[in-house]
Amino acid sequence: MTSEHGGDPWQTFWRGRRLAMRGRCPRCGDGALFASRFRLAKSCDACGLVYRREEGAQTGSMYLCAAVTEVFAALLCVLVFVSTSWSAWTSIAVSLPIVLLFSFWFLPKSMALWVAVEFASDVANREPWTRP
Ligand SMILES: [Zn+2]
Repeated sequence: MTSEHGGDPWQTFWRGRRLAMRGRCPRCGDGALFASRFRLAKSCDACGLVYRREEGAQTGSMYLCAAVTEVFAALLCVLVFVSTSWSAWTSIAVSLPIVLLFSFWFLPKSMALWVAVEFASDVANREPWTRP
């Protein structure tokens, strides 16, 4: 199966993911993906691709961020606990600020990744708004 962009959907996804993780539009790579650190732009200022087409479109990115952060938190707490002589509560207390920093760092990454996933899915489904 090929997409309208000349490659298969996985190529569209990997190209879009690479561009989105750099904060660029997954279609053209020129427009900015974010209006601010934690807010997506409404659309690409270069090609017009709409990033937020409907209410709740970014719910998947919040689930992704929560799931990845929870796994990170669990691994970090276990790592701190087994590599020190601290109690479990001390390990959690020490890990908590690091987990919060990770979450602040990862949230925009999960939003960008979700835009790339939606774009690749919409291209594969030949949605009209994905056409340049
Ligand atoms: Zn664009």
